[in-house]
Amino acid sequence: MSFTNHTVLAEALEEWKVSRLQEMLPRQYEIIKRIDQQFRSSLTAEFHDPKILSKIAIIDHEHVRMANLAIYGSSKVNGVAKLHSDILKESTFKPFYKLYPEKFVNVTNGVTPRRWLIHCNPLLTKFISNRIGDNWQYNFSELAKLKEFAEDQESQEEFIHIKKQNKDHCADYIRKYNEKFRSYDPFVKEMDPLGNDSLYDMHIKRIHEYKRQLLKLIHTIILYQELLETPQARKVKRTLFFGGKAAAGYEKARELIYLIHVIAKRINQNPKTNSQLRVLFIENYNVTKAEILIPAADLSEQISLAGKEASGTGNMKLSLNGALTIGTEDGANIEMREAVTDQWWPFKFGASKEEIEALHNEMKYDPKKIYEENGKIKKALDALKNDTFAENDYEKQITHQFYHYLVEGFNPDPYFVLHDLEPYYQTQLKVEDLYSRPLEWAKFAIYNVAAMTPFSSDVAIQNYAENIWKIAPQEMEPDTLSQVKKEFDSSYSSLVTSNGSNVSLWNQVKALFKR
Ligand SMILES: *Cc1c(COP(=O)(O)O)cnc(C)c1O
Repeated sequence: MSFTNHTVLAEALEEWKVSRLQEMLPRQYEIIKRIDQQFRSSLTAEFHDPKILSKIAIIDHEHVRMANLAIYGSSKVNGVAKLHSDILKESTFKPFYKLYPEKFVNVTNGVTPRRWLIHCNPLLTKFISNRIGDNWQYNFSELAKLKEFAEDQESQEEFIHIKKQNKDHCADYIRKYNEKFRSYDPFVKEMDPLGNDSLYDMHIKRIHEYKRQLLKLIHTIILYQELLETPQARKVKRTLFFGGKAAAGYEKARELIYLIHVIAKRINQNPKTNSQLRVLFIENYNVTKAEILIPAADLSEQISLAGKEASGTGNMKLSLNGALTIGTEDGANIEMREAVTDQWWPFKFGASKEEIEALHNEMKYDPKKIYEENGKIKKALDALKNDTFAENDYEKQITHQFYHYLVEGFNPDPYFVLHDLEPYYQTQLKVEDLYSRPLEWAKFAIYNVAAMTPFSSDVAIQNYAENIWKIAPQEMEPDTLSQVKKEFDSSYSSLVTSNGSNVSLWNQVKALFKR
């Protein structure tokens, strides 16, 4: 067995109450108890130190720790990006790393280019194949050849044209979808994207504090206030997308969705600004919607607090579809930057994991001070405090609550939003500067697409096979292969008709069989 860890957030490392396990899974509990005893008796004195033992025990303090059970029972333990795997070794599972250093490895996540490029972005797929042939679709490392075309003006122009078509398609889809809700949802009619000359700026992922939707939202308020004050303040028009689901029991995330709507409504209704700035919330964000949104994105928001995003895969999908990333040094962002090189990765910002740790350990984070000393930030937060956006008591309650969360209180905002806000603002100015030079922007974007070859799921699977499962590729017996082909051919038409939206994926399977 092997254990892939996907997060370091404490609430996601499953710990189950002994009493509950005894009641529901009595036999399994007996077995876990024996494993715990066996584990304890295997430990040298050093690990019986109560401080260490309390971290590594499988059963401790009336809880069963599933991660500890998994590590003991596995031959390999891996994180899903280099930074994340290092955090597992240096902090989350530090004593285990000392016990079993040979178990710990890394496999960086990937996304499948079949779905996240060939299927969802046929125009960009054709653009690539017209230049480097279509073998990259079967051997993804060949996509790197696209680099040769980044400096080519005709390619830059065609890239821009494709992005605009994808933006039109995305905007049509959103309008049509929203149409259904207009009659009864007063917010939805305001959620209309600007045209394809506006920057499509997307923060699309589950709603979670560590992913920092709030960082982008406070920045949105700053952009809005600057536009109100100076209508010529902005170099580029922007359509800002927020999309994501909140877990049912995660109250703050649900309130955050509400807050985004309160602010979006005001901004979108204001005739002084709404030809230059729009804020959209995409409800029910799912894979089908991601397939339409991602090919239309100019800017990919990957702004999690450093050290918290294990890998991210949205970052890879967006970059593969020609968006530039504004991002912190977190998760796979770091390896993406290394693959793209710093030269073509212009929008890195924010505190490093080490800086955040220092702020945390020395209790030096003082958001009130930032609020008082930075005029723009103060003005944006005062708009929450002073009911600039709120229209009723509930909206007032929500806006006050988030003001308080970010600025006040004994233990304010554990995700350091205000700490990274000024650097984020400055980096967004660089975004506008580059976006107002479309050919330059396209050059950067093409370099980014061409550098995504390490982030194919094929690479990840190969690493699992070689380093964790220890299995080698094997030729299929000719008889078996022809049997599989026959079965595929006979079910192909029903596969395609029963799920028409996936026809291009099935066609890719067919093409693979041909080869
Ligand atoms: C890829 C994907 C995600 C993961 O996005 P991150 O930005 O990596 O958090 C979440 N939801 C959907 C629908 C996706 O397609």
